[in-house]
Amino acid sequence: MKLDHVLKSQQFSKQQLEKLFRRADKLERQFNSPHRRKLKNSLNGKLLFNVFYEPSTRTRMSFAAAAHHLGMNVVETENAKLFSSAIKGESLEDTVRVLNSYLPDVIVIRHHLDGEIEETAKISSCPIINAGDGQGQHPTQALLDLYTIWKEIGRLADIRVMICGDLAHGRTVRSLVYLLSKFANIEFVFFTPETPDIPGFFRMKQDLKEHLDENEIKYTEISSGFDEALPQCDVVYITRMQLERFEGQSVDYGSSSYAIDASRISRMKDSAILMHPLPRNTEIHTEVDTDPRSVYFKQAGYGMFVRMALLQFVLGR
Ligand code: ASP
Repeated sequence: MKLDHVLKSQQFSKQQLEKLFRRADKLERQFNSPHRRKLKNSLNGKLLFNVFYEPSTRTRMSFAAAAHHLGMNVVETENAKLFSSAIKGESLEDTVRVLNSYLPDVIVIRHHLDGEIEETAKISSCPIINAGDGQGQHPTQALLDLYTIWKEIGRLADIRVMICGDLAHGRTVRSLVYLLSKFANIEFVFFTPETPDIPGFFRMKQDLKEHLDENEIKYTEISSGFDEALPQCDVVYITRMQLERFEGQSVDYGSSSYAIDASRISRMKDSAILMHPLPRNTEIHTEVDTDPRSVYFKQAGYGMFVRMALLQFVLGR
């Protein structure tokens, strides 16, 4: 399977997702076998540029680790907003044009402006992977989220997923909803805290809800009744308040209204899973980390294998 740019969740077909997940699973097994070193031959000598304008721990490091395990070379810049020519006024398009002339095989970009990476991909002569664009999308996070559900629940259809937190400013939830909505009998519950001063401040944006309506996918939006909803769900996906995205706006929010502690996790089904794209703040208490339903660290670990599979597909292997 050959992929070109990876820009948004909608671009993936169910068939492609299945192939990708089977490959990631195979890579994980190979990685944990005596044949691990053979993986180095897979993309040996290929070059990846990791260009990050916004902070990252998991995405940047797991792309770099994935590339190294496959024998690639990695050249990267973090904080490109300050330490690249962006600070001198260079556009992303000009930067990518120049980077193209150094002949990388793939460029992974995280940028602060929604849609900027997709626009720039149009002029790039090598594949571009969107590693998060502002409040737009984070497709590779959604791929690893879906892979986690596939691995931990064993199916991608017939599930009720509750997504909680700051759904207006978070990009991971947007990409995840687009991806999950490709499967049969998916039902969403969107929980956002009450914000009496700015009503609906954290609610899922209209474009996503229109997408769900058009595709006749069931969803409900709630701001109370969280404890009652917990036992009804197969996946509980928690997110943090994206404070850096609404700096200066005074919003009285209560992430404690959906914070998961020992008593709340005990309300979840035994077969359910608790996910989080990370980083977490106070919305998942550390006391639940050892509960078998808490899969958020495993989820982060799966990210490396999904990104290895993705690099192989993007580079035609
Ligand atoms: N790490 C994820 C992202 O880059 C989630 C978050 O920051 O809350 O979007």
